Amino acid sequence: MAGVGELDGVRMAGQLLGFYDRQGRQLPWRGERDLYRLWVSEIMLQQTGVATVLSYYPRFLARFPTVESLAGSTEEAVLLAWQGLGYYRRAQHLHRAAQRLVARGGGLPEELEGWLGLPGIGPSTAAAILAIGRDQPHAILDGNVKRVLARLLAFPHPLNSSRAQQVLWSVARQLTPRQRPGDYAQAIMDLGATLCTRSQPDCLRCPWQEHCQAHRLAAVASFPVVVPRPGKPRRRGVAALIFDKNRQLLLCQRPAQGLLAGLWEPPTLAMDDAEMLPLEPQSVAQRIAQRFNLHTTLPQPLPPVQHTFTHFHLTLYPFVCQWLGEEGEGVGNEAGYQTVRWLPRAAWHTLPCATLHRKILRLLEPPTASPENH
Ligand code: SF4
Repeated sequence: MAGVGELDGVRMAGQLLGFYDRQGRQLPWRGERDLYRLWVSEIMLQQTGVATVLSYYPRFLARFPTVESLAGSTEEAVLLAWQGLGYYRRAQHLHRAAQRLVARGGGLPEELEGWLGLPGIGPSTAAAILAIGRDQPHAILDGNVKRVLARLLAFPHPLNSSRAQQVLWSVARQLTPRQRPGDYAQAIMDLGATLCTRSQPDCLRCPWQEHCQAHRLAAVASFPVVVPRPGKPRRRGVAALIFDKNRQLLLCQRPAQGLLAGLWEPPTLAMDDAEMLPLEPQSVAQRIAQRFNLHTTLPQPLPPVQHTFTHFHLTLYPFVCQWLGEEGEGVGNEAGYQTVRWLPRAAWHTLPCATLHRKILRLLEPPTASPENH
């Protein structure tokens, strides 16, 4: 590994800025000085690729053009605008942080300390906002930058180790120039996104090739060091698509904390392995009765839907049935949802849902929508 002190920060910053001037990406938030708009772009880019963000960013800003408009809207409206971007906690944090800033008077912080401590803002995000928006000389260390620096140093520890945090922040600060720090922050992000990519680094075109230890060792594929993780487990569950006699569907809002917090879904029933294989319609009906106090026609299966979350794969088996009870009878909520509601088809798309549950609702589009067909 190269010693930190061996890096020529001034020369390297100059080389990277030259690359940026020649080959920097044209992105809608480039040259942006409005801290609110930059903040939105940084949060969207945290776990979503640029290509996807490009379509969501202008729509989100058209819906919530100012921090006041974001703070003044409901969480449901914010989640609906975020729908499809994934990692919904980002949207909830953005909303709560906007409310906090407006409660303090509405101005966006001009100093790092004002950003740190807001929900969803880590040191690298805060630094990026002020480096790009105000040209303040703060170092950034997002996932792309960590990968570049780990290769540059042939860093022998995994990126999530405490040693990596310490060393890579120190190198990031050492390399950040006092001249054009905002352009430098965007340049190093571009280097990670376009040349020093995860799987196919283009070292021949890299402005830092002469300094890069991984390249010198012909061992680029060995960095960053990765500790093999066990495969993701597969979980299974049932999505109960229950219609009432007025053709309204039962939809539920998930708890305010945890996975997919606050989003809407058809009731999901956790089933143990003995019940799942094979999955009997009678077992599904029993579970619906236990969890929601609803007696239904025998549930009929629809094709299963798969989705991969950060830590597991999920297969949901949708079953469709009709409630045999009468309007006015209460619905139980043993599953702990925030809200449980019967909703007509026109309302399904006005509620924020995860991609997984959108896929399931799509199974109900005509002509397969009618429970009488099953
Ligand atoms: S030389 Fe290759 S591995 Fe090293 S920083 Fe550049 S692109 Fe990444």
